[in-house]
Amino acid sequence: MKRSGKPNVTSRFSRCTGDYFKETAIPLAWELVTKGFGMPPDRLRATVHPSDDAAFEIWTTKTAIRAEHVTRDGTNWWGLGRGPCGPDSEIWWDRGREAGCGQPDCYPDHCARFTEFWNLVLPQYDQRGDLSGPPTTAESINRGIADGALVPLAKPAIDTGMGLERISFILQGKSNVFESDVLAPLVEFVREHSKKPTTLSERIIADHVRAITFCIADGVVPTNEGRGYVLRRLIRRAALHGRNIALSARLSAGAQRTVAMFREHYPELKDRERFITQTIDTETERFARTLEQGMEQFEKVASRGASAVSGADAFRLHDTFGFPLELTRELRSATDPGGRLLTAGR
Ligand SMILES: [Zn+2]
Repeated sequence: MKRSGKPNVTSRFSRCTGDYFKETAIPLAWELVTKGFGMPPDRLRATVHPSDDAAFEIWTTKTAIRAEHVTRDGTNWWGLGRGPCGPDSEIWWDRGREAGCGQPDCYPDHCARFTEFWNLVLPQYDQRGDLSGPPTTAESINRGIADGALVPLAKPAIDTGMGLERISFILQGKSNVFESDVLAPLVEFVREHSKKPTTLSERIIADHVRAITFCIADGVVPTNEGRGYVLRRLIRRAALHGRNIALSARLSAGAQRTVAMFREHYPELKDRERFITQTIDTETERFARTLEQGMEQFEKVASRGASAVSGADAFRLHDTFGFPLELTRELRSATDPGGRLLTAGR
């Protein structure tokens, strides 16, 4: 969820400035997860920045979490290199000892056992100069303050972000986000329409189809720059994975499934359904025309060995055949030494 380093989590951030700080935000978060969501306190862990004695103190005296369940982690820092930044404090779900390394002294971010689902970001500095990297200790923060690179904010802020998919799968007793009710029907859609789906492809298609549907409903259309290009890449990547698992349904049928799933909370999806499906169909048809040529070209290049796909090849695939760069990268890593794709359906 952190914007530096760790994988992204789809999150809803809400910001407030000045009214209260971590002494109130942390107990409120605890109350929501334990009383509101009914999560058993023993399955929860908290992490704080090594410099943040105040947060550690609040967790261990103002909530019912056990002190040994609060750990200090140097990566608990949020910032974009300039502007508001500061330590953060994360809440993690214990998936159980059997879900991870099995060691009794396991802690968040050690292995797959714990899942972070909430981050209380606590911007209390304004970064005005370069640091040698995100501060991982109290000393590095103090050095930044002494250098003038970090200036304490007059009004510290709270920026809390919780992963909707993560809290969904945890509360629904599932083991990952793709089993939650906000994604599972789309994974199911892929399985219904492919005789040989792979886990990777069904997850990518499910995730991308949902994102594509909401983007287009919000007025984004496929183009070659900015957000339109992000959308184009999402559609093309989903289409390519669909091709690799011989998906018999159109991506736009997945968009219709998405509309059915979310129309109650997002009525605009239903209003714009026709535009959404037409936009997806037009883009996938356009991509299909260049894909044949592109795949031929890719396989020719890759037949020299997967590592032989050079930057220049990747650029040509992108420029001439509309292959997004990360698609070439993905294809390259899924290609055997003979240049054949190692995915099903090929
Ligand atoms: Zn572990």
